[in-house]
Amino acid sequence: MIPLAKPSIDNTDIAAVTEVLLSGQLVQGRKVEEFERHVSDIVGASNAVAVSNCTAALHLALLALNIKPDDLVAVPAYSWPATANVVELCGATPIFVDIEPDTFAMSASALAHTLDRVSGSTRTRGTFVAVIVVHPFGQMADMRAILKITEKLKIPVIEDAACALGALRNGLRSGGCGQIGCFSFHPRKAITTGEGGIACCNDQAVSDTMRTWRNHGQHPSASTPTFTLPGYNYRMTDVQAALGISQLQKYPHILDMRRKAAGQYHTLLARTSLTLPPTLADNQPVHQSYVVLLPQKYSNTQRETIFRLRELGVEATIGTWHIPMTEYYKTRYNYTVGNYPIADDIFQRALSLPLFDAITETEQEYVAECLRSLGL
Ligand SMILES: *Cc1c(COP(=O)(O)O)cnc(C)c1O
Repeated sequence: MIPLAKPSIDNTDIAAVTEVLLSGQLVQGRKVEEFERHVSDIVGASNAVAVSNCTAALHLALLALNIKPDDLVAVPAYSWPATANVVELCGATPIFVDIEPDTFAMSASALAHTLDRVSGSTRTRGTFVAVIVVHPFGQMADMRAILKITEKLKIPVIEDAACALGALRNGLRSGGCGQIGCFSFHPRKAITTGEGGIACCNDQAVSDTMRTWRNHGQHPSASTPTFTLPGYNYRMTDVQAALGISQLQKYPHILDMRRKAAGQYHTLLARTSLTLPPTLADNQPVHQSYVVLLPQKYSNTQRETIFRLRELGVEATIGTWHIPMTEYYKTRYNYTVGNYPIADDIFQRALSLPLFDAITETEQEYVAECLRSLGL
């Protein structure tokens, strides 16, 4: 089976982890701080708070921005459910926004429309207090257009940059252009710490609040332990951080290999009926996943296509989730098909193909051959 993803772990990574294991200092040692410094350099942020996963990072971001019950947070309709779940965890309400058909990211015009519509409605309690923008599969959203809208309204932006560490677009760095940028180091992302996440920001007070929530409510700079909040334990271990530091050494190379593999798919699939990821000007995505679209007339064959590809030894899957149509959100807020037409369409047609740094040309040729054999 050609796997969908494969983490890039070598002997250097193993040695880095072993060193921490033998040191006896498994948590709250130096490695987490060192990892935070490396990531903040890449993102161009003054602060980085390493945590147990990206969901924890997003949750801390909302807590640090003081999101309260009845507040409204704009969230793209098409993402991993964690993007919306963290809003619910704060007792606030996610208001979904439709996406762009080519990048799958939140549409700036749909955001403007939603902010307008909901703010003017007397039926919806609460006010917009934040926007969470996702950079899907490592492709940055149009942050210039989105920030133009949010800055005018003075609404903070959290970037769910889970898949997009190191991505650039129009001179903006992923996770470094909103108020807080969150990243994941889950094994399906381009580099991994097993489980792991980090929240980056430029505001010292916001960073201190996230550190406090991360560590049982203990304020980071108090000289004697002072518990100022009823916090969580969202800490990253030194074992994870050591793996992360080691992975970051290879990150430019990993990104390069992924870029080449994506380019290779682009050539191999150019003459199929699939819609390929867009090539945009002044854009450097992280190729976390290679997601193509089935032709419109095949939209009802997505599940079968995935099944048949697996039978042929190719592990493909859907892109990501149409959050308003997942059980919890659909039931709680009565969403139906048609509320988010672009997400409806993309959710039915997206197909994620195997992509990892060590994928070979032969494997990619085989994937293309299988797609052609299915008549695509
Ligand atoms: C992977 C992912 C997450 C969750 O990250 P974890 O580290 O597994 O918590 C959140 N949002 C997006 C867009 C993701 O791709």
